[in-house]
Order: sequence, then structure tokens, then C-alpha cells
Amino acid sequence: MARVSLIRCASYDPDAVYESVKRAVDLVGGIGSFVKQGMKVLLKPNLLSERPPEDAVDTHPEVVRVVARLVKIAGGEPVIGDAPGGYGKNIEAIFEKSGIRRVAKEEGIGLVKFTSSRFIEGIPITNYVFDCDRIISLPKLKTHSITVLTAGIKNMFGTVTGLYKAETHSRAPREEDLVKILAKVFSIAKPHLTVLDGIVAMDGDGPAAGDPKSMKLVMASPDAVAIDACVAKIVGLNPLDILLTKAAYEAGLGEADLARIEIAGEAIDEFISKDFRLPQTTPLKVIPRAVVNALASFIRFKPWINEDLCERCGLCGETCPVDAITVERNHCRIDYKKCVRCLCCQEVCPYRAISIRRNILTKMVWG
Ligand code: SF4
Ligand code: SF4
Repeated sequence: MARVSLIRCASYDPDAVYESVKRAVDLVGGIGSFVKQGMKVLLKPNLLSERPPEDAVDTHPEVVRVVARLVKIAGGEPVIGDAPGGYGKNIEAIFEKSGIRRVAKEEGIGLVKFTSSRFIEGIPITNYVFDCDRIISLPKLKTHSITVLTAGIKNMFGTVTGLYKAETHSRAPREEDLVKILAKVFSIAKPHLTVLDGIVAMDGDGPAAGDPKSMKLVMASPDAVAIDACVAKIVGLNPLDILLTKAAYEAGLGEADLARIEIAGEAIDEFISKDFRLPQTTPLKVIPRAVVNALASFIRFKPWINEDLCERCGLCGETCPVDAITVERNHCRIDYKKCVRCLCCQEVCPYRAISIRRNILTKMVWG
């Protein structure tokens, strides 16, 4: 039986976040059951893009601050790290804009970049996963245009370094194949504790181009798969309709059967959202997964650059795994013959200049 705590938190007021996060962690055993004196602890927030906290793209710095304080109280030594898209080149800008650098400085905590790695089954995983005694994952509750949702399991994909992450999408363009790689990474970099920031989540075209959505929720569990299963229920989905959750569950990496998940704290029904919008790339709320799979080859979408919003920073072009983007002063172009629809470009764009366009059949089927 897995155990997940759910605690209401109305805002990012520092005192409210402290109370909520501490209570959530206490209800799954307390920080002392995960961290002992002298342990090095990797805190892995979701730092996806160079955006301010109110955009709800990155894990909120106040959540990171509280977990770091709890680790210190238990006698541990926290470090904060992530490897975002764009080959991690923009990590310094993300530390700054997300507010993580300010919090790290105020709390006296090191920020680390995932530059060196160890290859496990051909996948380069940051050395911090192996050098630290404990991993605490700090995901953001968001939609995801490829995997429908991103929360506990997918957050650990950020431990992959270098070119591999972007190239994964060209290696595995189908969602069924992609989720196997994501589940494999999760199995290698499995966190000892996950604390989810769902105070303000993201719905719509996440993980970077959706809209902030107040959910007033903090969750904690040693079982990130169970967290993702609860998140699916909260946004109105069957957990096993999320292929990534299903892949991790079937690989024995955690619990996704809601009947075998014990909820601590507040009742899960209190958090169910009836108007949570999924990405326009997924019709799951109106069409069952089996039908979606049958229609998969007809479902078409593509990224599109709004040249009026584009600041010509070039990050999308550097990130694209198949070199499909040309950014010039007077003209931006995506070569759709090369594009593998991974949407990495949309994830990294700091200016929300890349949106999704769907084909007519897709619009007709689910509006
Ligand atoms: S689309 Fe976004 S990421 Fe690409 S060059 Fe323009 S502003 Fe930069
Ligand atoms: S253009 Fe964007 S969606 Fe297409 S392959 Fe490149 S990064 Fe992926």
C-alpha cells in the first residue's frame, strides 16, 4: 500500500508554504525518516524555462526553500540542481528568473549544474544522482503536450545530461516509445521523496505555454508513481490512461491503483478540478484512450512561431534535435519535413512565441 499526503495551501505566502509542506512531509513519515545527519541531498525541482514564478512553468522557489530548510533541520546538506532543455545552456538564466538563485543565496545552499554524468544502459545521468545520499524530487503539477501530464515521474528526466534528452524525441517520436525511456530514467534516478508543487499548477498547453491554474495543493510521498496517479484523478483522468504512469506502474516502480493508495491529510475529492484544461494535443477527456490510440496516425499537430512575439534569442534552434528551425532577423521558419513534433522548442522559448497548430481532422474530432 502506497501513502500520499495531500494538503491545502492557498498561496505562496512563505509561512503558509512552510506549514503545508512540513505537514505533507510529516504525514508520510517526516523528513527524519528520509534524511539523516551528514547526508548529501539532491533537490531536483522542475526548472524548465527562463520564466518568472507567476508563470507556473518552474517549481516555485518558496517550495524549494521549505524543503531545503527541512533537510538542514534533519542534519542534511542540500544542493539544488536541474538540466533543462536547450542542452542546459540556459540554466544560469533559469536559476535567476525562476527565483531559485535568490532562495539558494538566502538559504546558503549550493546550485549545481548537471554537466558530468555516468552512462547507465546508454543514458547519461548526472553524477549527482550517484554522489548524493538522497534525492528529493520537487515537481510542478502541469499538463504536457506529449505525455498529457508532467509531475513526479517525468521530473526525473531532468537528471539526463547533454544532447541525449533532446535526441530522445527523435529516437522515440511515438508516445508509447518515449514513455519507456522516461520510465527507465525514473528507475535509475528514483527519488526517495517527492514533494509536488500544485499550489498554482499549469493547465492548457503545458509544460511551458499553458496557463497558471490555482489548485491550492501540496502533495508528498516516497512513491512518485502514486503521486502521479492521484494527480490524474484530480484532473479528471484515469491514471492508467496516462501512458507514462502506466509504463512506470507496469515496470513495478510504484503504485497506480488508486484502491491501493492510502491518502493522508485532506480528502482527494476536495481537490478534484472539473475545469482543468488538457493540452490541445490530447483528446483524452472526450475520447477514451483505446480510440485515441486507434486514431493516432490521423492526429496531427505542429509547432508554429509567432514572429511578432519572437525575440530572436535562437534557443529553439539550438534545442531542436533535428535542426528544423531557422531563426533570422527578418524571418523564422520551421522545416516541417524534418520536424518530429517533440515540442522541445515550445518548452524552451522564454517568450511564449511558439504555439501549437492542429490539423482540420484533429479539430473536427475533439473540437
Ligand atoms: S521562437 Fe522563442 S526561442 Fe525561438 S528564437 Fe524566438 S524567442 Fe527565441
Ligand atoms: S521544430 Fe520544435 S517540435 Fe519540431 S523537432 Fe524541432 S524542437 Fe521538436
